[in-house]
Formats: sequence, structure tokens, C-alpha cells
Amino acid sequence: MLNTEFIINAVYVLSAALFILGLKLLSHPLTARRGNMLSALGMLVAICVTLIDQNILAYEWILAAILAGSAVGAFIAKKVQLTEMPELVSLLNGVGGLASLLVALAMVETDAAISSHLLIIVLLAIAIGGITFSGSVIAWAKLSGKVAKLVSSGSTVFKGQAIVNGFIVIAIVTFGTLFVLSPTVAISGLYLYAFVGLCVVLGVMLVIPIGGADMPVVISLLNSYSGLAACAAGLAIDNNLLIVAGALVGASGIILTSVMCKAMNRSLTNVLFSGFQAVKTTEMKIEGEVKPLPAEDAYYVLEAAQSVVVIPGYGMAVAQAQHAMKELQVLLEENGAEVVYGIHPVAGRMPGHMNVLLAEADVSYELLLEMDDVNARMETFDVAIVIGANDVVNPAAREMEGSPIYGMPVINADLAKNVFILKRGMASGFAGVENPLFFKDNARMIFGDAKDTINTIIRQFSI
Ligand code: NDP
Repeated sequence: MLNTEFIINAVYVLSAALFILGLKLLSHPLTARRGNMLSALGMLVAICVTLIDQNILAYEWILAAILAGSAVGAFIAKKVQLTEMPELVSLLNGVGGLASLLVALAMVETDAAISSHLLIIVLLAIAIGGITFSGSVIAWAKLSGKVAKLVSSGSTVFKGQAIVNGFIVIAIVTFGTLFVLSPTVAISGLYLYAFVGLCVVLGVMLVIPIGGADMPVVISLLNSYSGLAACAAGLAIDNNLLIVAGALVGASGIILTSVMCKAMNRSLTNVLFSGFQAVKTTEMKIEGEVKPLPAEDAYYVLEAAQSVVVIPGYGMAVAQAQHAMKELQVLLEENGAEVVYGIHPVAGRMPGHMNVLLAEADVSYELLLEMDDVNARMETFDVAIVIGANDVVNPAAREMEGSPIYGMPVINADLAKNVFILKRGMASGFAGVENPLFFKDNARMIFGDAKDTINTIIRQFSI
């Protein structure tokens, strides 16, 4: 006869298998949706089984919560634009951290006979959860610009910041130790809330000095933290699946962080232990002049081109130019040209941003080349079309020592025979630095909204 514990654990193993399979499928755009569904199913099953097993809620309440949660999720999924995804991911990380913090707090409040070693784990869950929560809210505010007056999207640094952070960490450790050692509930409560408050403050302090260009690293690092917080909460309440799920999120978050670090030119050790220093800026002397080109004239070059590389960036998302680009791609191919896309790992505002947009426009995955592959043959392309990309094609990363983005791996669009840059004006990109590409001899600026520009070129093909 099977007992309840066996059934629960069997369901947990099944859920863990669904998470792992889901993660595996997420690694390719073609299977990513299925992976997402499988992981969500694993989580749904796990939550229902836990709630029923622990007699925490009656069936009606579980059903009502599923309906309410699904309605909120569907509303957000419909409302949020693709350009706002990083903000959403940030908020979701924060909510994950807050949930772990609350679970750990509830554990302390409800279990009077909790052992000291368990208390340490609980404090760990509270600390990581609190830092993740406030850090993610600040990352969201920086990215969304909605509270621009309170939180600058650049880096906020002040004298003695590292010392202040050091004191906060010492205070956190002190209050945590006092809480574990304190025999009286009333005083330990005070220590506990001081501990919680300081962890939340530390989250804010860790993220405010980080400037815009480092945000992808921060978001994926906070994602990893939210997993670690869940893992610690799982240890605290002795829930195996929460430990597994937390560990998976923690590990995948840290792998993504490492990939992003490479793309942003920061070492992982620097990110984890040195804090985020503001990058030094220097006066950059850019030679050459800007050469505007009407979209109608760009047609003649494209019409004669045999090979074209398209390098999309954040501006393509803003202009929603992906469908028009796909249309132009087909016209170029019909005209005998080879067309490929060069995708930088941090183009846009979230990992995979460009892949998602191009998939939406039905661009074949085989045409999407990674940065190293496209750079290896950049000189062979007749035309590089840069659509709304700026930082990710900035040659200052190679040429200008002292530039804030010096050393960042970029797509070397300037090495193509001709470069067309589609943007509205001379504004800088997310990192806020000037781009010498726009002044190169082989570069032509095609000013205007990227979608309008591409549509103008498309019309020339049919004249
Ligand atoms: P950038 O932000 O560097 O540049 C985007 C360019 O698009 C701007 O210069 C803007 O110029 C142009 N643009 C905006 N709207 C339009 C439009 N409607 N039509 C045509 N052009 C337009 O983008 P990149 O993709 O090159 O670089 C991404 C940056 O974002 C990097 O610095 C990266 O570190 C950062 N980042 C990346 C994240 C990620 O995970 N991918 C997350 C957070 C930040 P203009 O206004 O003149 O038109």
C-alpha cells in the first residue's frame, strides 16, 4: 500500500523532472515555448500537491487562487510590450525574493521551538530574499525610468559608499547573531526586524551605483539570488522541491550572469566581490564626418549587393521594424543576395530580445548568426544594415582605450564594405557614449524611424 509521503515525493520527483526538461527545451527558440509550459505545469502540480498535503487550504481556495493568479498573469502577458520585458523580469525576481523572505519570516513566527542551526538558514533566506527584493525594485525603477527623479538610470555613487556598505554588512551579521543567541522573544523580535530592514537597505545600496550598461548583469544576478533565496527557504521549511527549484534557478541564473559578463566585458569575480564601480569616462576625439543618405538612394547599393548582414538593436524593437525587415530580406534574397542576421548577446534590453522579435516576424533561426561567427566574415559583406543598434556596434570598444565600453565584445559592423545605420538622430545608445562608427568613411546614416526607412526601401524595389 502506498503511503501519502511516498506519493507526495513521487509527484515532487515528477515536477523536478519537468523543471529540468523545461530548462533543456528553453535552450532553443524552437522548443522554448514548450519548455516554458512544461516547467509551469511542474510548478502548478507541485504547489497543488503541497497545499493539499499540508492541509493548508481547502480545494475551493486553491481553485480560486489559480483562477486569480492566471487572470493576473494573462493580463500582464497581454499588456506588457516586448520592450518592457526586462522591467517585468526584474519585478518577478523581486517578488520571488519577497516570497522567500515572507516564508522564512512565517517560519520564525510560527515555530517557537526552532533550533539554532535552522535559524541560521532562515536568516539566510531572509537576507538573500530581502536583498533580491529591494535590489530588483531599484533595477526595475532604473530600467523603466518611471521614478526617474528618485532613481537615476545612471550610477549613483557617493564618497565612502564602500565603507557605508561595509558597516551595513557588519550590522546585519551582528543583529543576525544577536537574534540567534537572544533568549527572549521580545528582544529577538527587535533584532529580527532590524536584520530584515538592513538587508532591504543593502539591496538598494548594492544596485544604486550600477550604471545602465551593466543592468543585464544585475538582472541575471538578481535572478540567481531569487533562486538561492528560494533554496534557503526550502531548507528552512524542509521542502525538497523548493530546494531543487531554487537550486535550478540559482544555477541557471549564475550561468546566464557569466555569459552576460563576458558580453558586457566584466569579470564575474568583479561583479560578485568588487561591487559595481562606475566606469571611468574620458574625452573621446572622434574623427571624420557624418554622411546622411536618403533611404531611396540606399536602395541602389542594396539592389547591387550580393551579401547583406543585418545587425538589429534596441531601436528595432522600438520601431517594431522586424516585420518590415523580414519583407526586405525576402526581396533581397529574390534579387540574388545572401542575407544573414548578426545577433549580439546584449542587443536590446534583455537576453534573447532580438531572437524573440525576429522569431515573431518568422525569420528562420538558421539565418541568425552569433557575434563571433558574423565577425569572422564581416569583411566579406557588401552591406551591413544596422537597425536601431548602437552600443553593440560601437568600434570604440576596440579602438578607444578609456572609453566606458572599451574591451566590450562588439559586432564589427565597421569592417563591412558599406554600413547603413538606421536611426532617428545622433542620440547615443544605452551606455551613453558616442559612436565613432557613424563617422567612418564607409558608413552612411539613414535618418528616420527604422520601420519607415525600411518601408521606403521596400517601395523602391517595386518601382
Ligand atoms: P542601444 O540602446 O545602444 O541603441 C539603440 C539605438 O536605437 C539608439 O541609439 C536610438 O537612436 C535608436 N532608436 C531608437 N528608436 C528608434 C527608432 N524608432 N528607429 C530607429 N532607431 C531607433 O541599443 P543596442 O541594442 O545597440 O545595445 C543595447 C544596450 O542595452 C547595451 O548597452 C546593453 O548593455 C544594454 N542593455 C542590454 C540588456 C540585454 O539584456 N540585452 C539589458 C539592459 C541593458 P535614436 O534615438 O537616434 O533613434
